[in-house]
Amino acid sequence: MAHRVTLIPGDGIGPELAEATRGVLEATGVGFDWEVVDAGEAVMERYGTPLPEHVLDSIRRNRVALKGPITTPVGEGFRSVNVTLRQALGLYANVRPARSMKGLDTRYEGVDLVIVRENTEDLYAGIEHMVGPDAAESIKIITRAASERIARYAFEYAVANGRRMVTAVHKANIMKMTDGLFLECCRTVAAEYEGRIAFEDRIVDNMCMQLVQKPDQYDVLVLPNLYGDIVSDLAAGLVGGLGVAPGANIGTEAAVFEPVHGSAPKYAGLDRSNPTALILSGALMLRHLGETAAAERVEAAVREVIAEGLTITYDLGGTAGTAAFGAAVAARVAETAGVAGSPASA
Ligand code: NAD
Repeated sequence: MAHRVTLIPGDGIGPELAEATRGVLEATGVGFDWEVVDAGEAVMERYGTPLPEHVLDSIRRNRVALKGPITTPVGEGFRSVNVTLRQALGLYANVRPARSMKGLDTRYEGVDLVIVRENTEDLYAGIEHMVGPDAAESIKIITRAASERIARYAFEYAVANGRRMVTAVHKANIMKMTDGLFLECCRTVAAEYEGRIAFEDRIVDNMCMQLVQKPDQYDVLVLPNLYGDIVSDLAAGLVGGLGVAPGANIGTEAAVFEPVHGSAPKYAGLDRSNPTALILSGALMLRHLGETAAAERVEAAVREVIAEGLTITYDLGGTAGTAAFGAAVAARVAETAGVAGSPASA
């Protein structure tokens, strides 16, 4: 039976990445019934909102979506579609693995981190206002319910995936109430896993320095929303950049899979960007759908094509376009399924 999945191609480089990714996922032989819906800048004029209700309805109905990046105007204009979508659907856990791949020119080998970012509150709650003409306030919301839920998610993820340690990242020395509560919740949940999963905590600034110096000492990190956003780009930088960093937004009713990176508007339509992050997000989606063997084939095909270095994109030091890289990975996936020659491998 085909999996019905909402596909949001997104803005900027999103549509070309989505096209390449679709080819790779279809080359697995797994059946997909894509419901393609648009969100972002392109629909603003038609619907008066960048996130029309029918897009949310489609995800609620299908419970799974694959999403390209969506532009958010800086300092003005509409609120982030990405943040709104995560909040509206209760996608409370943002999971961003950062794993070294052979063939990439990076400072370290053997990096294998998983960033678990709280996705619904903190400074991203969107409660900010001007206090007179010359001052502005933004409210940081941290609740016990959301903090315990994300901490439990991180520990359960660690157990299910054979990981050894969870590190809570915070700034509880300064924000004693908000980050203090987050840390307290992590400690409470950690106690339930004592003897099975190790636990420690780090102040976020120190964490950034430690990750740059000795990333191999860390495993699963759990963070409030803002630090999670920043540290996941840092982690992407350790393993080859934003072009290779996938992500998943998980809730109890739905899951949306999307890369860490944004819409890179200056490369839109140029066939220059790397679809690896969206392809690997697609592999995370395959796992979520129970298609583990297909997910492993996609991940292996990406690793092989990158390790060979013949058809890699500009960000990785190659000259291949988005479509050519996607086709090379799709062809490799199709070979392993014994279905070479399918349209996806063309
Ligand atoms: P960006 O991630 O789009 O780009 C940062 C840098 O990484 C640029 O140099 C870009 O060229 C490079 N890059 C990103 N993706 C790449 C890829 N697939 N292949 C090769 N290089 C890649 O970040 P930005 O410039 O800060 O943001 C652009 C827009 O994207 C903004 O409107 C921002 O709000 C939005 N954004 C959206 C999401 C999302 O949809 N989840 C996430 C982050 C940023």
